[in-house]
Amino acid sequence: MQVHEKLYINGAWVAPKGTDKIEVIDPSTEQVCGVVPAGNGGDVDDAVAAAKAAFATWSQTSAQERSNFIKMLSEKVTENAAKIGELCATELGTPLQTSIGMHGGLGIGVTSSYIDLPFEMEKEEEIGNSIVVKEPIGVCAFITPWNFPLHQILAKLSPALAAGCTVVVKPSSDTPLTAYYLAELLDEIGLPAGVFNLVTGPGRTVGEAMCIHPDVDMVSITGSTEAGVRVAELAAGTVKRVAQELGGKSAMVALEDADMAEVGARAGGGICGNSGQVCAALSRLIVPRSGQAEAVAAAKAAAESVVVGGAFEEGVVMGPVSSRAQQETVTDYIRKGVEEGATLVTGGPEMPEGRNVGFFVKPTVFADVTSDMAIAQEEIFGPVLCVIPYDTEEEAIEIANDSVFGLSGAVFAADPERGKAAARQIRTGQVSVNGGAFNVAAPFGGYKQSGNGRELGPHGIAEFVELKAIQM
Ligand code: NAD
Repeated sequence: MQVHEKLYINGAWVAPKGTDKIEVIDPSTEQVCGVVPAGNGGDVDDAVAAAKAAFATWSQTSAQERSNFIKMLSEKVTENAAKIGELCATELGTPLQTSIGMHGGLGIGVTSSYIDLPFEMEKEEEIGNSIVVKEPIGVCAFITPWNFPLHQILAKLSPALAAGCTVVVKPSSDTPLTAYYLAELLDEIGLPAGVFNLVTGPGRTVGEAMCIHPDVDMVSITGSTEAGVRVAELAAGTVKRVAQELGGKSAMVALEDADMAEVGARAGGGICGNSGQVCAALSRLIVPRSGQAEAVAAAKAAAESVVVGGAFEEGVVMGPVSSRAQQETVTDYIRKGVEEGATLVTGGPEMPEGRNVGFFVKPTVFADVTSDMAIAQEEIFGPVLCVIPYDTEEEAIEIANDSVFGLSGAVFAADPERGKAAARQIRTGQVSVNGGAFNVAAPFGGYKQSGNGRELGPHGIAEFVELKAIQM
């Protein structure tokens, strides 16, 4: 059990202004595994003041200095990947070995990809008699979700540091322990005081105080579309830049010549990754009607082979979902799918056999789903796959695009060029063809209601940059 009584502000551990606390629950056991302060607006004021003061000097550091700090952070994350994995296993429920590879590994990948990027800030562009230079935007407020407790912070912090910005971070109240550990690592590398500040607390108080604070220059939120909209509304009053990484309902499209057994197996296993709590999860499998039976059989077999259990149990592939509320949301959607007339192929709303403690959900596959059903339109954020049959490839693309979201997608085709052509027609920020791997340096973000802006790699710096034209 980890008890944190302080917040990290201006390079020091300081007592919060209030006395409220947040209990962190281990979703595998339902036991309290940590306690952190529930900060308030006064704490946000102090953190923003520290970030504003630090900006004066941090923004003037050389690219080499900032690169050195990012390299040191990357080394710390690399050395401590096992500890990061353990924390995410405890507060999020990711099975330990997966957690080390996924949460630790992503942290290593993202931080290391930014070591050379501060130098991009020094590049100037000439347009006629103008020189266009890049400058950091200023004080940034980061609001992050629980599904990737470290990655969601690092995907914002790494480019912000590269650009020369200072930050105030409010992590999800479900998974603040990993954020505390990150603050410790940043303290150990001697990041100058005020460059990174951590204020834990509810979105409605701490998050909203950050969004309306006049000295915050930009807000970046990763979370639900509902929270993203609220953040943008609040930030509009002081004309802040807003970056939003929001929900998704991404489609995996099998073209007619794809291998249905392979596609079904990938979809059925893939939806169980991180217990389905992945914004870019391929939660809709769109298959030719003639291939549905084969794809569904393979998806069923893959889902049923997933061993569900506690994060620290041996041989477990999928842990619980993050909270009681999330378990209720996901199982409500499973009931809804049955009511809507989809065919429940495997899984269901009950707890997995032999479990009565922990926020577990059975890997679930629905077939014969139609695009107008709630389970095909709304983000479930759990291990629930919807298989939707199509009659023509044109219709397949229409179904893929029949969503308010536009985060990610996938296409499977015997001919990769045909796959690429289909990928171009899907209105999302990312699409993989024939299982193309996730790339930490490629821009990540959404079309439509999945957000605004891009994270990761060189494109991820743009959020943190102001352009200045100097006429000569
Ligand atoms: P959430 O929206 O409930 O919370 C996200 C963060 O926003 C939390 O820190 C929360 O405290 C804060 N927040 C909530 N209401 C707020 C308000 N009124 N003002 C300011 N801050 C507020 O989301 P969650 O349940 O933590 O995460 C799941 C959601 O995140 C899913 O919809 C998922 O798709 C999305 N997500 C998106 C991406 C992406 O990159 N696009 C990545 C991961 C998760």
